Amino acid sequence: MNKILFFVDIYKWLISLIFFLTGGKVTIFFVYANVQLNVEPNYKGFMIIYKYAKDLKKHLQKVKLAASSVGFVPTMGALHQGHLSLLKESQKTTEITVASIFVNPTQFNNAGDFKKYPKTIEQDILSLEENGCNILFLPDEKEIYPDEVSRKKHFDLGYLETILEGKFRPGHFQGVCLVVEKLLNIVEPDFLFAGQKDFQQCLVISKLIELMHTNIHLIICPILREENGLAMSSRNLRFNDSERKLAAELYDVLTSIKSNHNKENFQSLKNKAISHLEKKGFKIEYLELAKKENLELVTDFNNKENLVLLIAAYLNEVRLIDNLLINQ
Ligand code: AMP
Repeated sequence: MNKILFFVDIYKWLISLIFFLTGGKVTIFFVYANVQLNVEPNYKGFMIIYKYAKDLKKHLQKVKLAASSVGFVPTMGALHQGHLSLLKESQKTTEITVASIFVNPTQFNNAGDFKKYPKTIEQDILSLEENGCNILFLPDEKEIYPDEVSRKKHFDLGYLETILEGKFRPGHFQGVCLVVEKLLNIVEPDFLFAGQKDFQQCLVISKLIELMHTNIHLIICPILREENGLAMSSRNLRFNDSERKLAAELYDVLTSIKSNHNKENFQSLKNKAISHLEKKGFKIEYLELAKKENLELVTDFNNKENLVLLIAAYLNEVRLIDNLLINQ
């Protein structure tokens, strides 16, 4: 099978010429350009990449006339199986799957973290295409934030922004809402797929959808883990082998707290877990127990409510988060 990848700006006439010259031998065709193709809405077998929102919107208008539903998987790239599980869920649920890759500067409260965020764009494009993504939105920063005004909007997230990630990463969720609102307004999907890995972010997005008065259906997908239990994350690419092994301790303490939750109180299990992790070199930001519904913090286990354990910690310079559901 011939695979031809284009990573340059090209024009419609050139695309037509290539299709003509290759006599249909081109089976996979990437467009990384400001172009509009006359593609059948139910096309399968290749992925179109859009850089510009205007073109993507226009194309989606046509697609939506024929497709029963559109699913959307926003990401920051450096894709792993966790991201691809969202994509697969979208394919199961919807007819057309749109993914986006954009490393959103406004959600980083630490400039160093933004600079060092892993980027594997060529590999990402190939794995999206191989996994059946129909459309990739790959904007640059100017497309999302054309001016200063476009970076300034406040979202009333209330309590959700005052705890856990909200407390330790000031401004983070405002940045998340800023970009997700823009992306949702461009793609206007029926279903939005997000990972439980970012538990609090899922509640924030759910709140955002409410604030936007849309009826986008949020689907929360389970956490995919490495064999040793470490939650898959793009940031894991910054670890060497021994750090990657050590990082799995985070999941080990969550599972150990969960399996002892009928025998010991949370405070005592929490103290033991923190001192264990600190001895291993982790710097803990929080380890908390909260109600699954609204993240209201609780001091101990109970058998009446669905609870979630949440942790954030640094291993060397890399910040990790993880969570585990209790009572279900
Ligand atoms: P990110 O690229 O980190 O912004 O993540 C994009 C989406 O993938 C978010 O909805 C994440 O929650 C989700 N995600 C990240 N890691 C995982 C994982 N290990 N399992 C499932 N979903 C994940």
